Amino acid sequence: MADATTTRAATMEKIVALCKRRGFVYPGSDIYGGLANTWDYGPLGAELKNNLKQLWWRTFVQRRRDMVGLDGGILMHPRVWEASGHVVNFNDPLVDCKTCKSRFRADHLIEERLGQDAAGKTPDEMSAILSQANLPCPKCGNRTLTDARQFNMMFRTTIGPVEETGVQVYLRPETAQAMFVQFKNVLATSRVKLPFGIAQIGKAFRNEITPGNFIFRDIEFEQMEIEYFVHPDDGADAFERWLADMRAWFGRIGVREEHVRVREHAKEELSHYSSRTVDFEYLFPGPMGWKELYGLANRTDFDLKQHQEHSGEDLTYFDQPTGARFLPHVIEPTFGVDRTFLVVLLDAYDEEETVDVNGKPDTRVVLRLHPRLAPYKAAVLPLAKKPELTEVAKTLFDTLEAETGALIDYDETANIGKRYRRQDEIGTPFCVTVDFDTLQDRAVTIRDRDTTNQERVPLAEVAGWLRERIV
Ligand code: ATP
Repeated sequence: MADATTTRAATMEKIVALCKRRGFVYPGSDIYGGLANTWDYGPLGAELKNNLKQLWWRTFVQRRRDMVGLDGGILMHPRVWEASGHVVNFNDPLVDCKTCKSRFRADHLIEERLGQDAAGKTPDEMSAILSQANLPCPKCGNRTLTDARQFNMMFRTTIGPVEETGVQVYLRPETAQAMFVQFKNVLATSRVKLPFGIAQIGKAFRNEITPGNFIFRDIEFEQMEIEYFVHPDDGADAFERWLADMRAWFGRIGVREEHVRVREHAKEELSHYSSRTVDFEYLFPGPMGWKELYGLANRTDFDLKQHQEHSGEDLTYFDQPTGARFLPHVIEPTFGVDRTFLVVLLDAYDEEETVDVNGKPDTRVVLRLHPRLAPYKAAVLPLAKKPELTEVAKTLFDTLEAETGALIDYDETANIGKRYRRQDEIGTPFCVTVDFDTLQDRAVTIRDRDTTNQERVPLAEVAGWLRERIV
């Protein structure tokens, strides 16, 4: 494959357009004019997203003997977020424009408008930088930005019929906490021994003030997180092992190595709970450039200690072989589902210059998705909408569906060239065409999405042929 960093066909604009055109992602509440920074996954997006989550679950939970799963609630006791530090620490530094009332992230303004690094700076330090630069408001142009102040990013809601007397709770801003809060129950019920991890996939909510870049930064998104519990002496080694396991994941989802780099957090940038953090960054096309895709943090015993103190429950681990009792340390690999979805599309997107049936120059758009992730594994296409062909094609569709367990498309509309193009653009690895010869030779033509090569395969062997190629 060509050096994708210089000759990449993908742009964010093309991906956003393709997502809407083909039903991967729609703007949320579209017919009401949309709700800013919310998105709905359409028929193909729902399939791709499910495939991603299933692959992750299989890779990191089911295939490993040291992992178990959890499916926790979005609403948790409000004291969870006091113990975790989110009530006090989960803030973004914001500035307001006194003229147009718009709000901006102070750190983003410093990085994007002044080209300076804002990581680890306090609101006062950021205010000083901004007032010295006397930046105009990016929206209205007036030099009327306020000082930076902290704004908590958790969404609040109320349990109970009367708002004034109800219990105020938060929509979880990360999935991690349920795995600490249920640590004791998991220990007691699943016979796990250190080192072991708990994994969870689920929604998280953050009142992000500068969202954007399509599904890169949403206010509602999904996370795939692991809390990996180890002996306090083993944190550094476990961290290295997870670094390698996270790297290997990129190969499984077809994201090219040269588009990923690891960035070590500087001391002053570390979150309140972390002794070491690295970000996996992805090279987004265009002005976005390198941005965080995943994180890996050594949370030490911060969370278990906090929950032990706040709940009064003993959360120590008893190590039978040594008779020792201690609070385990925690390594946390965290993956955003929506960001994974986006980079998988960006890396799969390709354009090929070709000629159409009339010999005119034409561009073939191909989503070179790994067959594991592709929404449809194959499409069954009768060459013409003739009963003798559609009958064979529909029977083949039923057989493939039953014998491979995979999602198969069936399409009898438009000319065959157009149907191939549609399947190329949605990433279907194989098109199975039933033609007039099929009625005699009981065989079909299978076209490969990536090479466009065609192969004749007996009808009776198609299911087996496909099964071998989609795992
Ligand atoms: P950022 O610096 O981009 O705000 P973060 O460091 O706050 O991200 P974490 O708290 O480490 O992110 O969250 C873990 C993962 O969840 C991120 O690596 C990312 O993949 C995903 N994620 C975080 N915030 C969002 C968001 N607003 N929209 C979509 N995905 C997100």
